[in-house]
Amino acid sequence: MGAVRKVCVIGAGTMGAGIAAQVANAGVPVLLLDIVPKEGSNRNAIAEGAVAKMLKADPAPFMSKAAAKLIETGNIDDDLGRVAECDWIVEAIIERLDIKQGLYEKLEKVRKPGTAVSSNTSTIPLAKLVEGRSDAFAADFMITHFFNPPRYMRLLERVTGPKTDRATAAKVADFGDRALGKRVVAAKDTPGFIANRIGTYWMLVAYNAASDLGLTVEEADAIGGRPMGVPKTGIFGLIDLVGIDLMPLLLKSLGSTLPEGDAFHAAVRPMPLVDRMIADGYTGRKGKGGFYRLNREAGKRKEAIDLATGDYRPVIKADVPRAALPQLVALPGKTGQFAWAVLGQLLAYAADLVGTIADDVVAIDDAMKLGYNWKYGPFELIDQLGPAAFAQRLADEGRPVPTILKTAGDRSFYRVEGGKRQYLGLDGAYHDVVRPEGVLLLEDVKLAAKPILKNGSAALWDIGDGVACFEFTSKMNALDGDTLKLLGQAIEHVGKGMKALVVYNEGSNFSAGANLGLALFAVNIAAWGEIEKLVAGGQQAYKALKYAPFPVVSAPSGLALGGGCEILLHSDAIQAHAESYIGLVECGVGLVPGWGGCGEYIDRWVKSGLLPKGPMPAVAKAFETISTATVAKSAAEAKELMFLRRDDAITMNRDRLLADAKAKALALVDGYQPPRPPEFRLPGPSGRVALAMAAEGFHKRGMATDYDMVVSDALAGVLTGGDTDLVDVVAEEQMLALERAAFLERVRDPRTVARVETMLETGKPLRN
Ligand code: NAD
Repeated sequence: MGAVRKVCVIGAGTMGAGIAAQVANAGVPVLLLDIVPKEGSNRNAIAEGAVAKMLKADPAPFMSKAAAKLIETGNIDDDLGRVAECDWIVEAIIERLDIKQGLYEKLEKVRKPGTAVSSNTSTIPLAKLVEGRSDAFAADFMITHFFNPPRYMRLLERVTGPKTDRATAAKVADFGDRALGKRVVAAKDTPGFIANRIGTYWMLVAYNAASDLGLTVEEADAIGGRPMGVPKTGIFGLIDLVGIDLMPLLLKSLGSTLPEGDAFHAAVRPMPLVDRMIADGYTGRKGKGGFYRLNREAGKRKEAIDLATGDYRPVIKADVPRAALPQLVALPGKTGQFAWAVLGQLLAYAADLVGTIADDVVAIDDAMKLGYNWKYGPFELIDQLGPAAFAQRLADEGRPVPTILKTAGDRSFYRVEGGKRQYLGLDGAYHDVVRPEGVLLLEDVKLAAKPILKNGSAALWDIGDGVACFEFTSKMNALDGDTLKLLGQAIEHVGKGMKALVVYNEGSNFSAGANLGLALFAVNIAAWGEIEKLVAGGQQAYKALKYAPFPVVSAPSGLALGGGCEILLHSDAIQAHAESYIGLVECGVGLVPGWGGCGEYIDRWVKSGLLPKGPMPAVAKAFETISTATVAKSAAEAKELMFLRRDDAITMNRDRLLADAKAKALALVDGYQPPRPPEFRLPGPSGRVALAMAAEGFHKRGMATDYDMVVSDALAGVLTGGDTDLVDVVAEEQMLALERAAFLERVRDPRTVARVETMLETGKPLRN
């Protein structure tokens, strides 16, 4: 079957371009083709234009600018023959059956046998797509349905037909999983597959219920958002995001393809307001606005539309009582009515479709969680309501009770048995939730065991083969005294008979750094001794980690900032999820890195072998990155910024991060020697002056504030080695002392305090 070494993507629109970028992000070359434009002499203009546009897009489709070089552009008239170079052809052209079929007919003649071909269609059944094609073509054909934007959405729905060759299907699934980082969910060949089928129905019933009950869009989003584990955009905010103009298209497509009697049809009604909004250019965030808009004439005031009149008015914050789902749907008045109207219909619909759109509840839950960013899938929501209570209420209201709910009776859809998560099958029996081969999740480890060590901020787990996993467990994974304390205990424990340590957690962010709230509290009561203890304690704990007699591998995903970044810098190796956002951001809040980050970061540059000789280049690099609080926007960028070293590795699939980190740690065990302490050669005061001049340039251009200059000078003092002379060797201990002194001086400055306060209150930096 072979591996996928080169991919051809045909269609360079929203999806095709994004898919090509993700293939390039995986380090695999791509050929991106589109039609020859009607005008102009550049026959590749459409594909070329798509790449150029992506290089400027935000959020960025590329993980690093360098990835763009892996995309070759062309057009289908001149270059279609080159698909013979590729192992997988992804079709992502306009959603029209005749045009797709015409393309496949041409492909059939030029592709080499065994090359997988897949369509990114959202709505066309596979059976129709392969009509008229040979058996050999059908054997290599499938649907791979990506979600927009392809880099960031983790769901990949895959549909195979009766003729699809298993090995070809497995090849594509494996590439989608390991290289593209997707969770591949098997869907059946039915309209809208899994996520859009349920997601569209969800939006529809929510829209209807909000209109019927006379709710404001803010109320609907407040009830239908967070309390149900839906992103805080809620429903109307989500429609604005994906584009209001897509609504009628989705409704029309599903309306014409879903079987008679499907609950969807009964929910569709005329939507004059939506029609009018689209006609007037109110297509959502990409247009003049949507259900919400920023009124620029009124000073960027946030406004919402009145669903009854269609007029905009200032946003009115809606308050929803905090309640578990069973209480929420039982609340009197509009809140409870709306919650039940949405959940009652949505969950019954999903329950009715088990076996029809997917084999089991796990596939449906995964699809909704990864394709719509829900925190819980429909069956996890039913478990929260209680399946029996849910079925009873449907029955009480004279509504049909889906078969699988009857099968469940008073049992839940998920349970833990013998340390394993199990789901209820259509056959009425429980089955283990099976992870793809090689996937290791801490979530699963926790079901089967108790932590080795634990306190309020961290825990230590045994993940097998002599490897331990250190997990942050505090709110937002902020680091505090307890984290450091447990880290010390963990190092001692692992040293007494385990082989290696992995620092990893399954929060959405690895850690945004030290707990600033605690620091601020200490400042406010002038507990300088406490602060000094926290800084020195952190330095000691991190050095203990660095010099531990066993290998340490850190495995971040999401934000790894400040102290979270410094823990990476003290590890023997890093195995980073591709979506890691790493940086030393202390200067942003008026501080300098205080847990050993300054020295470690310089040391990385010195040892990179990428810089000219002499003490200044590494120091200048470190100053440039740290003084501007630069955050790498991907693991690939973190490599360019030397937060990751050449030997550090990147995992594309979040689900595989822990297994990869564990393997990396085990590979370091044989003959492991802790690192030797670095000896720094630093430029001293003359270097500090040079850095100050560089910073003054930014200051003059208005890019740095007065206080930025003070903070960056403090940083420069540390990075250049203080009063050191050029001929001196600066020991690690001296660097740590310089860090401590600079940190403690800055933390007492009211301008730093103001920055910290603003960061805690708004999550945004204060530019004082
Ligand atoms: P798009 O309109 O942004 O891009 C379509 C591209 O196809 C255009 O660049 C067009 O020039 C090109 N094209 C048209 N005919 C062609 C041909 N004969 N040969 C080569 N290229 C041709 O569309 P899109 O949103 O990227 O959708 C592409 C496919 O992906 C559709 O099947 C759609 O249903 C599906 N899809 C879209 C989304 C989404 O959110 N937009 C999500 C999942 C799947």
